[in-house]
Amino acid sequence: MVEAQGVRKSYGLVEVLKGIDLEVKKGEVFVLVGPSGSGKSTFLRCINHLEKINGGLLSVDGELVGYRMKGGRLHELRDREVAQKRRDIGMVFQHFNLFPHMTALENVIEAPVQVKGENKAEARERGMALLERVGLADKAKNYPSQLSGGQQQRVAIARALAMKPKLMLFDEPTSALDPELVGEVLDVMRGLAEEGMTMIVVTHEMGFAREVGDALVFMDGGVVVESGSPREVLTNPQHDRTRAFLSKVL
Ligand code: ADP
Ligand code: MG
Repeated sequence: MVEAQGVRKSYGLVEVLKGIDLEVKKGEVFVLVGPSGSGKSTFLRCINHLEKINGGLLSVDGELVGYRMKGGRLHELRDREVAQKRRDIGMVFQHFNLFPHMTALENVIEAPVQVKGENKAEARERGMALLERVGLADKAKNYPSQLSGGQQQRVAIARALAMKPKLMLFDEPTSALDPELVGEVLDVMRGLAEEGMTMIVVTHEMGFAREVGDALVFMDGGVVVESGSPREVLTNPQHDRTRAFLSKVL
């Protein structure tokens, strides 16, 4: 689903990704961990067309990010084509980013109706089913300010799912939550994983990584330091940097 070969990204003179190699298979829960500033968010943003890479190859579902083949040559995607690609990728952020002036249901159906032109009645029906799936059918008419952080994040997940993505990116989805609200969000993510969604999850929740993750990569300073099954890496890290990091988060 995602393939990175030598992916590089700089901001000005500062190189943030220094040649990332990794592969995310369809249906896999791929956990990305690493200290703050190691480039995890930047990598997700590159996958989702929010940043352009400066080197290497990055593809999603067999297509190079940002380019299309035509007449045997690569052409940069136009803005409209980028927007189209981005619809296939759901992204969930640390700070929910719901539209504050819209109810939970309105948040969920906004993109299907406005971007895809879905029939409003059908979108509402599907939106309600999605809210049900994240356990919030009874909060459809609530505004974000009337919801807890955990509930807001579950709405954000439902909103991302409303576009029927083939890949979901989670960037520290529980880092801003009070500890007692973390579980309800992880439960929704676990359910998604069981249904076969391909997910890349940046998180410090090592219990979740071990239980739900199929693969884990430890990044530091813009490089992949080590990778393997979550169990392998978490119980038997091979590198000092991995050990130092894990000793802080476990
Ligand atoms: P992580 O998500 O692992 O904490 P980030 O990908 O957010 O790391 O950031 C990696 C590095 O890139 C950091 O040093 C950060 O300051 C820098 N960085 C991120 N975004 C920008 C930007 N838009 N402009 C300049 N530097 C940035
Ligand atoms: Mg980050």
